[in-house]
Amino acid sequence: MDPLVRAAVGAQQFLFRTTGFALSALGGAYVVWWARRGEMDAYAYGVFALLGATLVHRLVRRLRRLNPVEIARLDLELFCHLVVGAYAVVLNTPGRIDGPYYAVIYLVMMFAAAFARPAAAIGTVVFAIGMSTAIGHFAFGRAPGDLWPRAVMLAMFAVLNMIVFRAEISRVRRLSKSRIEGEIQKMKDAARSYRLLGAPSSAVESRARPSLRDAEERVLQSGVEEIHQAIQFALDLLRRSLGLRTAVLLRLMDASGRMRIEEISTDEDAVDPGPYRAQDGIFAAALTRGETVSVSGRAASRHVPYYAGSPKVTAVCVAPLTESGHSHGLLVVDRDGEPFGENEEALLAEATRFIHRAIQNERVFVQLERAKIEQGKLYRAADVLAAATTEAQVIEAGVSSAREFASFDFAVVTLFDRTTGEHEICAASGTGADAIVGQRFRHNSGLVSMVVANRHPLPYRGDYDSERQVVFTRRLSPPPMPSLLVLPLLVHDKALGTLVLGSERRSAFGEAVRPTLEVLASHMAVSLANARMLKRLEELATTDGLTSLLNKRALMQIGMQKLRSAERFEKPLSLLICDIDHFKKVNDTYGHDVGDVVIRGLGKILKRNKRDTDVVGRFGGEEFVVVCEETDDQGAILLAERIRTELEATTFRPESHALKVTCSIGVATVPGAGRDWETSFKAADEALYVSKRSGRNRTTVWSTSMRGCAA
Ligand code: GH3
Ligand code: MG
Ligand code: MG
Repeated sequence: MDPLVRAAVGAQQFLFRTTGFALSALGGAYVVWWARRGEMDAYAYGVFALLGATLVHRLVRRLRRLNPVEIARLDLELFCHLVVGAYAVVLNTPGRIDGPYYAVIYLVMMFAAAFARPAAAIGTVVFAIGMSTAIGHFAFGRAPGDLWPRAVMLAMFAVLNMIVFRAEISRVRRLSKSRIEGEIQKMKDAARSYRLLGAPSSAVESRARPSLRDAEERVLQSGVEEIHQAIQFALDLLRRSLGLRTAVLLRLMDASGRMRIEEISTDEDAVDPGPYRAQDGIFAAALTRGETVSVSGRAASRHVPYYAGSPKVTAVCVAPLTESGHSHGLLVVDRDGEPFGENEEALLAEATRFIHRAIQNERVFVQLERAKIEQGKLYRAADVLAAATTEAQVIEAGVSSAREFASFDFAVVTLFDRTTGEHEICAASGTGADAIVGQRFRHNSGLVSMVVANRHPLPYRGDYDSERQVVFTRRLSPPPMPSLLVLPLLVHDKALGTLVLGSERRSAFGEAVRPTLEVLASHMAVSLANARMLKRLEELATTDGLTSLLNKRALMQIGMQKLRSAERFEKPLSLLICDIDHFKKVNDTYGHDVGDVVIRGLGKILKRNKRDTDVVGRFGGEEFVVVCEETDDQGAILLAERIRTELEATTFRPESHALKVTCSIGVATVPGAGRDWETSFKAADEALYVSKRSGRNRTTVWSTSMRGCAA
């Protein structure tokens, strides 16, 4: 950008950004001037109407803007406007700045401290102190000694307010955060106790994308909610139909035999939340026997630990909640009345089965929902992988998709080259990744080699012992981690390479994630194969089969690009056309195959002699073209002569013959010989024609006198 334009834009932006504050400052100056004169004039209405309008405008924008810098600026403008307004009000009240209404200024300071960004709040305080000092000094003629206590008071008031408000805000934030985390933890505990949660490596536990974690959390939460409702319904029903005081579901917390309330329906207000011991009394009897147990009479109240008070209980019945022959909870009912009869006990046992079925239903539902989420993730991953068209893109997409399914700290993609029998580490992320990218190693007995050979993921359980297991080679290994998984990248039962994942967490690659990761690795492999095919097709379309140089179409495309950029940056560019002399004779004498050897030989000479930035292609037959960037006539002649003399000195020995050939070269340099491809190529062709006509085995640079000579 032109410096003048840049300065103008800068000035405009500066003006735009400072207008609000400048208005406040002008308003402030006006208030000081007016305080000095002692009375309001007609202009005051205009000034305050203007300030009021900009205040409203800023308020509206402040409610919309989200950029923090912008918000701070708007805050400063808003509160400075308010300071001006507050001083105007104070000066219009009895006692003026010494009157009781001066508290309005403190009120504005308090609001600024509470609601403005810290920087804006500080700016507002400085502005208010400035106004207070200016009014005191210019309007009331106070000495500086009388003014500074008020300034200090204002500053201290604002700072204290700021500290108190900010501390309170962060305290409330912390509190609500820990409350939310507590709720989530409670939900997870419940989900775990109902066994809705599978292996700990699910997205809920992992560092998967937050939206996915949320989706899984929602599924779990609704599962837990449904179970709670079903249990509560069963307990309420039992309580009403059996005339109970309390119906409660207790769950075994751990192996130590303690129990806690899972759900309760009671008419008692005071409940002891537990935990309770389950080693003795009828709780222990029901748990160990695995059947319903009841007691009645005066002793019954000793068996119910969940009352904080001591209500009268004369009958208690306990039914165990069993799953796969294992008791994990108790359904306890009590009442002040008749002992529980056989029918009632049977009803209680039926209620435990109802609860059990409710939990199982939810388990199935949660599993289905989770499978749906997992499938959605796989579809998305497949989409991303299908869109990747190069090897590097596929690898990147594959590794980042894998993060959706498992958390890992280290990832490597190796590719196996069947022609050389070598593995190459093509990409790596995580600790120590940079050091191993690009390393190659021979097929050996390490995990990567074994996975490529056997086409099955390894190690079996995903546990890694860096002391005993070899991943790549003995010298080359991933950082020591407790979990590791090497997955084959399979296409048509052939492994193209492997995806190696490592995690600092134990059992990170358990059964919950392995099958999905295997599917993902297959998707990745197919995309890799496609990317390779695409690359091969591109190569086929752009290279010449005999010499592996660019073909005519590709060379022309690149040549034209280079020509355009040479013109744009006003740099010279040379074109060389090189044609073997009397080549027909070679073909006629020795045959086409020998001719091909010669063509290939010249191709190699050209490739050897050109610079990296030059491009060379076979234009057809035994004619080659070189495009040399930033090269003038002199540079082009040097290159052409190097090529010509090297070919001249070469003896080809195909099929026990020994033959030598020469070539003629035409050189044209842009912009002298033309500006577009057609004219400059024609010029080089004309120069070649001159080389041929004047005896061959030479280089000719195009000059205007040659125009039209080859027509
Ligand atoms: P000049 O010195 O004037 O170039 O004579 P020349 O015989 O080389 O004439 P020209 O360049 O026109 O001859 C091209 C010959 O190259 C014609 C054809 O037999 C031969 N040719 C074209 N393509 C191939 C190829 O792929 N392989 C072989 N061996 N010969 C080819
Ligand atoms: Mg020729
Ligand atoms: Mg030719």
